Amino acid sequence: MSLVPPHGGSLVNRVATTQQLPKLQSEAATLASITLSYREQCDLEMLAIGAFSPLRGFMGKADFESVCKEMRLTSIKAPHGNSGLLFPIPVYLAPPDDVAAKIHVGERVALKDDKGNILGILHVTEKFAHDKDLEIPNVYGTTDDAHAGVAMVKKSGNILLAGPIDVINANFNPEFPEFRLTPHQTREAFSKKGWSTVAAFQTRNPIHRSHEYLTKVALEMTDGLLIHPVVGETKSDDIPADTRMECYNVLINNYYNKDRTLLSVLPLAMRYAGPREAVLHAIIRKNYGITHFIVGRDHAGVGNYYGTYDAQKIFEKFDLANDLGVQILKFEHTAWCKTCEAIVSSKTCPHGNEHKIAPSGTKVRELLKAGQRPPMEFSRPEIADILIKWAQRVG
Ligand SMILES: [Zn+2]
Repeated sequence: MSLVPPHGGSLVNRVATTQQLPKLQSEAATLASITLSYREQCDLEMLAIGAFSPLRGFMGKADFESVCKEMRLTSIKAPHGNSGLLFPIPVYLAPPDDVAAKIHVGERVALKDDKGNILGILHVTEKFAHDKDLEIPNVYGTTDDAHAGVAMVKKSGNILLAGPIDVINANFNPEFPEFRLTPHQTREAFSKKGWSTVAAFQTRNPIHRSHEYLTKVALEMTDGLLIHPVVGETKSDDIPADTRMECYNVLINNYYNKDRTLLSVLPLAMRYAGPREAVLHAIIRKNYGITHFIVGRDHAGVGNYYGTYDAQKIFEKFDLANDLGVQILKFEHTAWCKTCEAIVSSKTCPHGNEHKIAPSGTKVRELLKAGQRPPMEFSRPEIADILIKWAQRVG
């Protein structure tokens, strides 16, 4: 049995080989440079390791426009039919306007992180106006500045630079290097374990009982489970990645079959684009070698911009077998039912809300701050204790 092929057919790798490195490094030192935003640094890493396959660099104008309008690339065709390959969110480089003004098509430019380290080289093949009026309403479904993703786009440069990249070092100071597997490495790990079907769970939160349930239901259907939290740029009120990683490790060590579960982090900068981001998450995980992707309620949303199940419904627009090649596992809201004595959803349990143990996020934070564990039917005591430490530290 073999793993699912990457999106577009082959796994991109833009990281220079040991042989190529010296030449690239000495060239980069002579070039004009651009300091990337944090989001662009994350995107560069995702491009470098093939997580955004089939993209080999920052998008040009035709792809930017067709992705915004139709969620499809123009540069790469879908495997069947005449349409472009599915890709829901543009990936671009938008430097400050005064920096972009000095860079011309045909040039090679060094890309730096915020510490001045040279990450790689961009071969500039296109330079074009950043059509934020096209991007924002199409990708985010709102133009509200209070939306974290929208605000990020509005703040970014008005000129986009596109072209393939050659990467020297995608990240000089990676978080959780021991849990930072590339798509190539997860694929290798799955093969070694003999898994051909793998479910992935995307998260930017600690895992409580209801999400533990979803992941285990998924694992009942597959050979393995990839717990794949986002550790790139997240919102400032999200729980920090180190606290979340402690939770995931404790949970896996105590409550999961370790032979069937893999924990790895994803260096993705969240857009909070709800439905479109759910599609991006599925494509990314396909590149990591997964075959089943869990989409719960409010996937990758923020505030009240998207309907509870919009991120599930968007997949109905596509021919999943041809466009994606990944199965979407759609889950309803789940919680502990005191009468069923199990985690249930409205699909599986006939009892009303008064039977459920589902404290609100605000209530949970209050309890944690006061040093109290939420009900064990909501959160495992080991997880509660880690979160109490965090809540009391941040005050
Ligand atoms: Zn029930």
